Amino acid sequence: RSGAALTAQSPYVLSLSTVSKVGRRYINQDVRITRTGKPILTVSGGRSSLGGYTATVFGATGFLGRYIVNRLARSGCTVVVPYREEMTKRHLKVAGDLGRVIFIEMDLRNTPSIEESVRHSDIVYNLIGRDYPTKNFSLQDVHVEGTERIVEAVAKYDIDRYVHVSSYNAHPEHPAEFFRTKGLGERVAREIYPETTIVRPAPMFGFEDRLLNRLANAANVITSNHLQEVIRPVHVIDVASGLENMLHDDTTTAQTFELYGPTEYSMRELNEIVEKETLKKRRHINLPEKIARPLFKYLNKALWWPVRSEPEVEREFYNQVVDENAKTFRDLEIEPVELNTLTYQYLKGYRSEAYYDLPPMTEKERREEKKYLHVLD
Ligand code: NDP
Repeated sequence: RSGAALTAQSPYVLSLSTVSKVGRRYINQDVRITRTGKPILTVSGGRSSLGGYTATVFGATGFLGRYIVNRLARSGCTVVVPYREEMTKRHLKVAGDLGRVIFIEMDLRNTPSIEESVRHSDIVYNLIGRDYPTKNFSLQDVHVEGTERIVEAVAKYDIDRYVHVSSYNAHPEHPAEFFRTKGLGERVAREIYPETTIVRPAPMFGFEDRLLNRLANAANVITSNHLQEVIRPVHVIDVASGLENMLHDDTTTAQTFELYGPTEYSMRELNEIVEKETLKKRRHINLPEKIARPLFKYLNKALWWPVRSEPEVEREFYNQVVDENAKTFRDLEIEPVELNTLTYQYLKGYRSEAYYDLPPMTEKERREEKKYLHVLD
């Protein structure tokens, strides 16, 4: 419906006419209606756009979180960011205009803090997840019980939309603990709030990923499955765009989406791409599962920084299986990008300083004939 017709008595009409008087005719106003009939006024105007929606993003401090918060806040939505640690959320403040990004301290076991985070929102995204158990939270605590508390709050406050980010291969009976708890989380979400939109991303790559960076960072690549695992890596920005589209498209309600990249890669192929881009050759060590699992279980408890964990070793033995019944990027009108078109951009920082693309900057450097190897790409 057209914004002008709907807002005949709206106070915003005044402000729009004032705006057009000063000549900013490019400002575009529209009214959207949410699933439950709530009118949402949107005004496009650069960084000061009004997105109209209020969205809560649980897990916004993580890798995917920053991209979805950025997209929502820059389109003028009010984004509520529940956080646990002051320092982990600072970068999100500047994603939108002043007052667009709101922080609320939250604990996954503290129901009032969860309710406080969701009660004013039109949509709730749940991105909370962990690859490894920590001393306070098992995978079951994070993926199942945490989800349950969040979805109960969503149902209690009758929030319009709930988007649950799960994982590829998620299934309640999967032999691997990570995929199993993710599957159980999906089931709990659908039981409490049947309109839940489930999103299962494939392993994601991007600047802060744990896929290419982990391979590139390693002095020796340590695996247990001879790098045989087959996955369909997806660009994190494509997944974030998909999540943003879901806000504007109510037909995605109660649907399951599997978001994966266009090409299948084995970990060996990915490792070769990483070696080619970083111009480094590393040793590959294959630790048998029987040794790797107890070893990483122990290390993960003894060390206080994230190291490889037992569930991650377990996950190596399962290829990504695509659910043919689930919807994909095509249904969101997004064309996912190819991994190999972006690996140079993401991995060039790992190249040795011996390789640089610029000619000598000073006369002194030129005289000293500082090594100028070749221009890359
Ligand atoms: P990250 O690990 O980067 O971020 C996880 C987020 O969850 C962080 O904001 C973290 O908060 C929060 N979190 C974890 N445990 C708790 C807890 N006990 N209480 C409160 N908050 C918690 O994940 P990604 O951004 O990479 O992934 C987003 C989602 O997608 C996750 O659910 C993940 O399992 C899933 N996924 C990711 C894939 C990938 O390749 N990255 C592949 C498949 C699925 P804090 O910063 O405070 O720790």
